[in-house]
Amino acid sequence: MVQPASHDPMVPQVMRVAQAQLDAPDVFTLKLEPEADLPRFTPGQFNMLTAFGVGESAISVSGDPASGDGIVHTIRAVGAVSRALTELRVGDSLGLRGPFGVGWPMEELYGKDVILLAGGIGLAPLRPAIYRLLAERERFGAVAILYGTRSPADILFRSEVESWRQRLDVDVHVTVDHADESWHGQVGVVTTLLPRIAFDPGRTVALLCGPEIMMRFGVQALGSVGVPDEGMYLSMERSMKCGIGLCGHCQFSPAFVCKDGPVFRYDQIRYLLALKEL
Ligand SMILES: Cc1cc2nc3c(=O)[nH]c(=O)nc-3n(C[C@H](O)[C@H](O)[C@H](O)COP(=O)(O)OP(=O)(O)OC[C@H]3O[C@@H](n4cnc5c(N)ncnc54)[C@H](O)[C@@H]3O)c2cc1C
Repeated sequence: MVQPASHDPMVPQVMRVAQAQLDAPDVFTLKLEPEADLPRFTPGQFNMLTAFGVGESAISVSGDPASGDGIVHTIRAVGAVSRALTELRVGDSLGLRGPFGVGWPMEELYGKDVILLAGGIGLAPLRPAIYRLLAERERFGAVAILYGTRSPADILFRSEVESWRQRLDVDVHVTVDHADESWHGQVGVVTTLLPRIAFDPGRTVALLCGPEIMMRFGVQALGSVGVPDEGMYLSMERSMKCGIGLCGHCQFSPAFVCKDGPVFRYDQIRYLLALKEL
């Protein structure tokens, strides 16, 4: 049933799963419809998704902002809500509020070298930015995608990563913490890939998304080769409820991760990285 667009950001819109695909162990990508009634999203923004009868979780949009072909989310089952979301199949319903938050600073990347540093499921919130970078490739300097996962099986969007790797205008490197017999690529944490790419640190902007430990080492490694703190942007994950800066659940004074982030410039949230979640 198509329903009228809701302008109350606290009222979920009922969506239908149009496609559900297993991307890695415990990770599913869902395409949701109808998209027509939803405001356009920008890369790095998230929606609050409701698994009816279970609860609501913040999940980044992982699809192409320009496609108009359904809203896409990539979800890892870690607890009750995320597991219920990954168990949805074609035709099932769920609730959606959003899009919310401040995403990646795409216009600031014009004319700059761009490094995307992704860990695990952190590639999902970066994928809309990658689509934009590739669609407007001539507007940017060197573009590198550095991606690390625990094992080869955890690599998301495998065929797409391979197609990015085939391009001559993007430098793509993938590494895993633990190889198996199928893996003939790099082994080691994602920061070990930095020496493999060419960039001018003074005119580089880096976008980081992944486990907090990875982002901590990521900013250190980038800093050590001369990328300034103002040239690094991180997508922060904090448990949140309302998504619009009302409840204070994700607030670390003075920032609300839901409405001032989830993407922050590193020099503005250095302290957040050091804080454990409440
Ligand atoms: C802005 C934002 C964007 C996000 N985007 C995505 C996304 O695109 N895809 C996605 O899968 N998740 C994403 N998350 C994380 C997602 O919101 C949480 O994983 C989810 O809310 C957990 O709820 P739950 O009820 O399933 O688990 P809970 O019952 O809340 O947690 C179960 C257990 O898992 C642990 N846990 C919770 N979250 C994580 C985590 N992220 N990693 C490892 N352990 C965890 C908890 O500490 C707890 O031990 C995002 C979060 C934020 C704030």
